[in-house]
Amino acid sequence: MNSTSYPGAWQSFLAVWREDPCNRPELTFSSRSVAFAPMASAVLHKLRASVRDVPDFPKKGIVFKDITPLLSDPTLFRDSIDLFLERCRGKEIDKIVGIDARGFLFGSAVAYELGVGFVPIRKRGKLPYKTETAKYSLEYGQAEMEMHIDALIADERVILVDDLLATGGTSAAAAALIHKVGGRLLEAQFLIELEFLNGRRQLDPTPVISFLKY
Ligand code: AMP
Repeated sequence: MNSTSYPGAWQSFLAVWREDPCNRPELTFSSRSVAFAPMASAVLHKLRASVRDVPDFPKKGIVFKDITPLLSDPTLFRDSIDLFLERCRGKEIDKIVGIDARGFLFGSAVAYELGVGFVPIRKRGKLPYKTETAKYSLEYGQAEMEMHIDALIADERVILVDDLLATGGTSAAAAALIHKVGGRLLEAQFLIELEFLNGRRQLDPTPVISFLKY
């Protein structure tokens, strides 16, 4: 298979993968991995181009990565979800945990496609039942995150999803909450990573994957 024929093949692969969840084909990493690279990089390029930089939001000095243009484009939104799904392939996953609020957009779609449960981690005061709490520092402030105490069953295998990894404070708090309620955090996945902030260090030793790096 050459790279020009690959996008069509990829669409067919995804169609089968979506339509028959019980009998999903596996990607093999032999000759296909050679063809996968150009296709993936074209998609990543389009996704990256759709992320809008908004300087000085929500305060001076922060360049906010606005994903709303990506979300409003049906192809790009689907492509972004497919990146997470591809990364989840082959893993035994019980729950997707998404971080308030943009982590819900990606995490819930991923959970839906995988056929697993979704758990929200929310900013303080938003969850109605008993919660565990974790404090964290943002790139632009201080806050607390909460998770329902019964959101996970002991030892459930969890993937953490958010739109963006900056300093890592938010996702480190989320990881702490997952551990507090008894979950096993397999990996943290982000659409975007601000690599210069080295946030992944905060999640150590949890494996971290991001798709668009700045
Ligand atoms: P941090 O705790 O510093 O890793 O911040 C990550 C969280 O804050 C994520 O939930 C992001 O949605 C949000 N965030 C932090 N910095 C930015 C940014 N520059 N652009 C967009 N969202 C951001």
